[in-house]
Amino acid sequence: MHLPTASLPVAVIGAGPSGLAAMRSLDRRGLSFTGFEKHTDVGGLWNIGNPASTVYESAHLISSRTTTEFTEFPMPDGTPDYPGHRHLHRYFHSYADNFRLRERIRFSAEVLSAVPAADGGWQLTWRDRGGEHTERFRAVVAASGTLHEPALPAFAGSFDGEIRHAARYRSGTELAGRRVLIVGAGNSGCDIAVDAVHHAAAVDISVRRGYYFVPKYVFGRPTDTLNQGRPLPRPLKQFLDKRLLRLFTGDPARFGFPKPDYRIYESHPVVNSLILQHLGQGDLRVRADVERLDGTTVHFTDGGSGDYDLILCATGYRLHYPYLDSALLDWRGASPQLYLNIFSRSAPGLFVVGMVEASGLGWQGRAAQADLVAAYLAAQDGEPAAAADFSRRLAGPSPDVTGGYRYLGLDRMSYYVNKDAYRAELARHQGLLDEPREHADAH
Ligand SMILES: Cc1cc2nc3c(=O)[nH]c(=O)nc-3n(C[C@H](O)[C@H](O)[C@H](O)COP(=O)(O)OP(=O)(O)OC[C@H]3O[C@@H](n4cnc5c(N)ncnc54)[C@H](O)[C@@H]3O)c2cc1C
Repeated sequence: MHLPTASLPVAVIGAGPSGLAAMRSLDRRGLSFTGFEKHTDVGGLWNIGNPASTVYESAHLISSRTTTEFTEFPMPDGTPDYPGHRHLHRYFHSYADNFRLRERIRFSAEVLSAVPAADGGWQLTWRDRGGEHTERFRAVVAASGTLHEPALPAFAGSFDGEIRHAARYRSGTELAGRRVLIVGAGNSGCDIAVDAVHHAAAVDISVRRGYYFVPKYVFGRPTDTLNQGRPLPRPLKQFLDKRLLRLFTGDPARFGFPKPDYRIYESHPVVNSLILQHLGQGDLRVRADVERLDGTTVHFTDGGSGDYDLILCATGYRLHYPYLDSALLDWRGASPQLYLNIFSRSAPGLFVVGMVEASGLGWQGRAAQADLVAAYLAAQDGEPAAAADFSRRLAGPSPDVTGGYRYLGLDRMSYYVNKDAYRAELARHQGLLDEPREHADAH
């Protein structure tokens, strides 16, 4: 005999920052859950020992500690402004221990599929050392991360050296004595370029477009802590920050980068000024886009060329939820079309936490997503009218969370949000569930 759906636990897939936040939110609402993590430990990609991790030895936060940490669980006193991955792994350990999440996570358990069950709820199949298992759950929270499936460019021609994605890069020592071409100057590409100048025989970085480079500190303070909590109107912010960057990092075109053909914050900013310093020291060169490969030679679109042993593609990641049928996520182009990047419209009871990219959203932003999921599930039990109202809302268009920014039409920007607009919408939606009577009165 099947249990009524509401009495079943919620399945949370992944024990990285987003999955842990989801478990914590469910627990706070008194909702039972089971966590699934294919690795042996918590921490997600911040655990460099996790084979799915895409961090490297030199990886540090690019958003500062106070804007990134979980509000209810600050990092201990003495934590640096921009901690490295080992620090962060310890932080997630303490988080899981502090909220007693670990004992409710099945480790070394990879979810293979999640499908809606014929009689309500979700049927999950996972594999652990004991083989494959299937069990029914009330709902599914997919928190399996966004930065795991490499997006590799299709180069014309053939290359005699090694082509590798940044996902498989761990340490600058791997580059010792090699002529390295890094493709892409996003945050990972620039970090790796800075590593490379200390190890490689020669380093070039190939770019398709210009970037805005943000230093980690301005006026001696972490840059993202300036003006916190008082968001400026978009045109003013773009005007002021562009000039502030000019003051602090100068014109990247002086160092060989193309001039950006978009305005600041229309793409994810690169938080790295060291690369400009190394360019100024002549430690590496900026090259144009790759046109074709021929033996060990790379030809660039501006007619230049260079010889390399390794092409390291810091070209980003594709969203990938292999355990979910794509129809359940309403994929359009490069990303699922979910209400507020969370709620599936086709599959009630399917939620995604962590499928969001933004400048400065931090783990608290992911926790706010998780809180909303937990509030919705709790309302289904305690406030069915509010939950039904909310469900009707989910069928409509998702609120505009761009903050008025016209994001570049790139795959990686297809699930990008403006943190202030997004947080405001999450808070508003949370209010619809937590204070349904007040809202009804106000109408
Ligand atoms: C170099 C680098 C720097 C970054 N800097 C910042 C920063 O400064 N600020 C910031 O906010 N973000 C930063 N990020 C983004 C980062 O993605 C987030 O901080 C955060 O790790 C996302 O957490 P997550 O839980 O959503 O995903 P992940 O950390 O990727 O965790 C997902 C977990 O799910 C597990 N999993 C996957 N599939 C399955 C399955 N089928 N079954 C069971 N388990 C599964 C994985 O093993 C993993 O443990 C950075 C990322 C990188 C790579």
